[in-house]
Amino acid sequence: MPVLRYGGMKFVVIGLGKSGLSACTQLLDLGATVVACDENASATAPFASPRFSLKAGPLSPDFFVGADVVVVSPGVPWSKPELVTARNAGVDVIGEIELGARLLDQRAGPILSITGTNGKSTTTALLGELMKAAGKNTFVGGNLGLPFTEAWSHTYDTYVVELSSFQLEGMSQTEIYGAAILNLTPDHIDRYASEVEYGKAKARIFQKQPKNGFAVVNADDAAVVALSKAATVPVYGFTLNSQVKDTFAGLAIGTGDTFTFNFGNRDSYVVRNRALRGSHNLQNAMAASMMASLSGVSREAIQQGLDSFPGLAHRLEFVRDVNGVEFINDSKATNVDSSLMALKALKGNIWLIAGGKGKGAPYDPLVEAAAGKVKGVLTIGADAPALREAFSKNFAIHECQILENAVELARKLAVPGDIVLLSPACASYDQFKNFEHRGDRFKLLVRSL
Ligand code: ADP
Repeated sequence: MPVLRYGGMKFVVIGLGKSGLSACTQLLDLGATVVACDENASATAPFASPRFSLKAGPLSPDFFVGADVVVVSPGVPWSKPELVTARNAGVDVIGEIELGARLLDQRAGPILSITGTNGKSTTTALLGELMKAAGKNTFVGGNLGLPFTEAWSHTYDTYVVELSSFQLEGMSQTEIYGAAILNLTPDHIDRYASEVEYGKAKARIFQKQPKNGFAVVNADDAAVVALSKAATVPVYGFTLNSQVKDTFAGLAIGTGDTFTFNFGNRDSYVVRNRALRGSHNLQNAMAASMMASLSGVSREAIQQGLDSFPGLAHRLEFVRDVNGVEFINDSKATNVDSSLMALKALKGNIWLIAGGKGKGAPYDPLVEAAAGKVKGVLTIGADAPALREAFSKNFAIHECQILENAVELARKLAVPGDIVLLSPACASYDQFKNFEHRGDRFKLLVRSL
């Protein structure tokens, strides 16, 4: 065992969130001395080890004195002046994912990574399912679930890792065998100077790939296709447009609930899983299936994994059928675009529960998508007046204030064949801790009907 591999070395870990804590745990296990820094002045030391110390409060450059390596959590901006100064002074500053890859230096299997603005978690979890269907002992984590620094303590055949743009910024030597970018829409502009900078961070996924590796990109997203020019490996595309200009090593072409590869054995697949409804999920399914196929997984295993994927909580999650009425939890839809995806994915007869802390974007696209599909809107939370204003011309509005009232009323209004959909198009913070808390509450209410 490579125990005490870092004995005598000093690491500074910045940010004590989930991934920072995991980095500290692994480094202490490996014999390092660890100084953790957290801006939260009231943070308390989570480890009793004599090799661990905590500096709570604002970052200061003297925290880095004598450090062999500085590990930065994804929540901490890479461009923070103290970190820029440290990098310029030659300090080895890395992100938590890079540390995870260093810990794996004798790893058995390839890393498959997924980034993009939307759909990362679904595609990552689905790819994990496809690899497992092929009998691979697969690590699934990164930005979702387990921190990547936890992977080294087990032997896996394959590593499926979701990467945010923040995590990508802190990576330089991590070799990614299969890299995918799903889409790129303006997001996190608060943390980036421009969309170009945001795109550049995403494109880092291609910066270090082995010669036999591959890239998978959304062929329908011009910004993503442009980023893929940076790839040094064959680039495959997935598309919903059979007329797409084919400049790729291979394509997955999707329509309705099926998709076909135009390379290899030209395999076809059907996406009949309730957890993968909607054309956005057809895209996610194509991306994951191509990555699995290019990693050697058989057609049969891929189809089996597409069918058995249990889905992720809070994303178009089927909760329960109550006397022929389907209840769906889409609490992760914290903005208009996400709720739009949900409305597009469902056929109709929908009672929409929406509202919360609005993000200021107009609800008009939602109103448009609701035409012919939504029977009524049940509003909750702070942005109810804005929802009323947008929807009331064409739809019946029921002001419910709180989720309890909305679920109760929806049950009374709905008839067999209807769907009750919680897809708030708003953040949850006015009434809940986070979207998970909101979704869990919804599920509890529905289960007790
Ligand atoms: P992420 O991890 O990138 O936040 P998730 O898989 O958790 O993505 O999905 C979050 C939301 O994004 C979903 O509820 C859905 O509304 C939307 N979404 C999922 N996949 C896609 C996609 N391929 N394109 C656009 N939107 C998507």
